Amino acid sequence: MIVDVHYHYMPSMSEEGAARLVKYVMHQAEILGIHAERDALVRKILETWGDPTGEQLIRSMDEGGIDVTVAVTVDHFSRMTAETAQRQNKMLNNVVKRYPGRVIDLAGLDPRRPEAVAMARYYLEDLGMKGLKYHPDHGYHPAGPESYRVLEVLARNKGLLLTHTSPLGPPARNAFSEAALLSDLAVDFPEITIIAAHMNAINWRPWAALAGMQPTLYGDLAMWDNLAFRNYDLFCRELRTIIDLVGAHKVLFGSDAPIHTLLQPINKWGGIIRDLPAKAPAGISFTREEVDLILGGNAMRILNLGKEENML
Ligand SMILES: [Zn+2]
Repeated sequence: MIVDVHYHYMPSMSEEGAARLVKYVMHQAEILGIHAERDALVRKILETWGDPTGEQLIRSMDEGGIDVTVAVTVDHFSRMTAETAQRQNKMLNNVVKRYPGRVIDLAGLDPRRPEAVAMARYYLEDLGMKGLKYHPDHGYHPAGPESYRVLEVLARNKGLLLTHTSPLGPPARNAFSEAALLSDLAVDFPEITIIAAHMNAINWRPWAALAGMQPTLYGDLAMWDNLAFRNYDLFCRELRTIIDLVGAHKVLFGSDAPIHTLLQPINKWGGIIRDLPAKAPAGISFTREEVDLILGGNAMRILNLGKEENML
């Protein structure tokens, strides 16, 4: 069973959105040493990322051998209206209903919205969405008062919070996406399962220090494909150290598709994890059990997948 816990669902794609997102993909191409033409990438983004019915998502899952995907939307208080944010979450929820058992939905919600509490209740209680996606890098504290009133709703519904950690380029407000800022959440909202997206990236130790002590905090491997493709040995060393320090049960497979899979298909990334026991460099070893936990076992456990009453 392979579960991707980090997929960006986008019901539609505007020229403006494509122009913004292509900058990230061009940066990724540069990191990976891949020659990429900006205009060709923009065309591909416009053609393939807007996915009103979820067909693209299911096709990419089938092609990549992904059994279940946790799909999120991104809400940005100053960039989109509450109506737009709500519409994209409703469309994601429709995808879940169209493909039962394949997709789990986390609603993008910017807690700075004045109507954020009502929106959280609508997503979690009326639509039955499974949790929320935060982007504190947009400029809010994940444990600030605005967030806390939203997390109270999430805690009541025993939901999942996937929250961005790790620095990004401008305009990201990186001070807010430090994993250490999640520290109080496990204390004040023990009912919420938290996945720190990207595990704080290069600076993963503050995340690991917390995750090792807090039973509700996990991390995902989205964005780590950049390191794995560029410097496989270093990736193996880092992942091995993380597992040695906090355990393989804390790490979940994530792709950041379709953004991260525009240049490299998802099965290449999944294959790197799957093949770790056979291909890790001399002196570093991974067990099949560890890899199975990362690729799907942990997500199954955390999301209660496979249990009759929770099947979507
Ligand atoms: Zn992401």
